[in-house]
Amino acid sequence: MSSDSPPSSELPSVGPLYGIAGSPGVAIATALVLEAGTGRIPRRSVLKEEHEGELARYADAVEDAQAQIAEVHARVASNLPAEHLKILEAYQMMLADPTLAGAVKHEIIDKGRNAEWAVEVAIQNMVREFDSVDDAYLRERKHDVAFVGDRLQRALSANIPSIPSFRLSKPLAVEDLGPRISGGPRMRRPTPPLGVRVAQPTIIVAHDLSPADTAAMIREPIVGFITEVGTRTSHTSIMARALEIPAVVGVSGVLEHVRTGDTIIVDGIRGEVHIRPSRELLERARVRGDKHSSRTQLLRMRLREPTTLACGTPVNLLANVELPHEALLAMEHGAEGIGLYRTEFLYIDKKELPTEDEQFELYRTIAQMVNPRPVTLRTFDLGGDKMANNVSVPEEMNPALGTRAIRLALREPDIFRAQLRAMLRAAAFGDIRVMIPMVSSLTELRAVRALVARAERELDDKGVARGAVPIGVMIEVPAAAICADLFAREADFFSLGTNDLVQYALAIDRGSHELARLASPFDPSILRLINMTVRAGHANDIPVSVCGAMASDPLAVLLLIGMGIRDLSMEAAAIAEIKETLRRVTADECEALAAECLQLGTAAEVELAVAEGFATRLSDILGSDELTPPPPPPRRSPV
Ligand code: PEP
Ligand code: MG
Repeated sequence: MSSDSPPSSELPSVGPLYGIAGSPGVAIATALVLEAGTGRIPRRSVLKEEHEGELARYADAVEDAQAQIAEVHARVASNLPAEHLKILEAYQMMLADPTLAGAVKHEIIDKGRNAEWAVEVAIQNMVREFDSVDDAYLRERKHDVAFVGDRLQRALSANIPSIPSFRLSKPLAVEDLGPRISGGPRMRRPTPPLGVRVAQPTIIVAHDLSPADTAAMIREPIVGFITEVGTRTSHTSIMARALEIPAVVGVSGVLEHVRTGDTIIVDGIRGEVHIRPSRELLERARVRGDKHSSRTQLLRMRLREPTTLACGTPVNLLANVELPHEALLAMEHGAEGIGLYRTEFLYIDKKELPTEDEQFELYRTIAQMVNPRPVTLRTFDLGGDKMANNVSVPEEMNPALGTRAIRLALREPDIFRAQLRAMLRAAAFGDIRVMIPMVSSLTELRAVRALVARAERELDDKGVARGAVPIGVMIEVPAAAICADLFAREADFFSLGTNDLVQYALAIDRGSHELARLASPFDPSILRLINMTVRAGHANDIPVSVCGAMASDPLAVLLLIGMGIRDLSMEAAAIAEIKETLRRVTADECEALAAECLQLGTAAEVELAVAEGFATRLSDILGSDELTPPPPPPRRSPV
């Protein structure tokens, strides 16, 4: 809830607000605005008759925060030294401090502020006081005060008044207590996922959602996502597409207009949002949504037919999978295997690390489910924007350029070997391939091979059944693409991760909304890196596939085919559309297009060449046949 404005029915309708089409489809439902964890404190002036209620909310928040800290205390008491436990006890005392309670009461009653706002002001004042003292030790206590303020805000966000059908919870995890408790160098900790419970179809509106937030909502009737930041290749969009939930991301300023309970239209085809829309807009959105669903249904009816180009050339369409249940869904969508299993989701949003046996059971189930088709398991790609509770990542200025993926795995060889053993064991039950993310040097590939050999020996020594696994490299760092000829001699296969390749080659954060339009896979540099990789792979007789979002874009995929790619892995929901696209083009046409585009100077020129050649033929698939009236850009965001 972002303001103290009148009830939603009296507010004017707002929109269209434009963002990036993160996940296709149209949803209409009521909004739930999530502000916890975004750094935004809901500020609201309260009337005199609300004062008691706000004071009671504050008292409840103190109790909740105390209970959470007590729970953590009980959980960690036996393995933390006494001086660390004292910090927890100090937090309890601060929460019970009558000075803080008095200051909050003053803000609510005398200043007419809601509880969140009152806590914010009271805590800020206390922090300022600590900041001004000379004693360095005392000055540092301001961090503890800020921590207590944060706990109170979280507890308050779990108890938002006047939205009876929603319940938010944001439980405290030990990890929340951060570096003070864990000691050692400063480590980055994940924000715990937002545990949202909703009773009715709901559209989540937030500044940002982590992949774990999105995954945590999977069991709820969430029908749409809107975020202020993010791009089509940010992991929240990837997750929304996997869950087949319409999403519009990068809608700057949406939180200023929307309130919990508002009716909202999320148009994940056009990248549009309407808040409190008119009846007419609602009707039009319904029609668009229905059209999209029936077109999707129609395409899905042809899923069992083999994927071939119009000239008869076969192409393999595989699925990207994030969550275990999607593997079955992928097969239903006609996937010819799993081209990318993002195993890091086993580590995210979990209190404990998954054990080797747990991982083995899961990988085996998936291998058997998909057998005889292949499953490419990517070793955990943690770090960057995907944080796990139990794997510590150093705090870095640029996490995407830091200890992520294989770099983290090699830093944590025991955790990594447990995963490798689980994969090797599962390989006894199906066609398992292992793929390494973010490789930038042959040294890393060789280190992985040594660890795989060691994991094999460990299993053999114990007489545990295992298979042999091909080891492939994700080509998603320019260094790997540039040296693809060297990698091709030592890797068993390549898979192009175009999401990161675009990020790292163009030096544009894949989550940057500001620069999203420049982060284009149509950029000549990207085409050239892909082309080099394909040539090197084929010259060395190793398979080359694409598993980034470029593979699921009907126009970009033509260039990939033209450069010689025949294996494409994408979110399962996109398979039908890409299959239909490929049926309408020939290999020769795509090759001519790719050859032309590889000589062009800019992404815009490439996009134009592709659109001129094929957009009319694909207008129903691109959705451009029903865009009336045409909205301003960005309509179809860069993939
Ligand atoms: C990629 O980078 O293109 C990719 C497939 O991996 P992820 O999106 O998980 O980083
Ligand atoms: Mg990647």
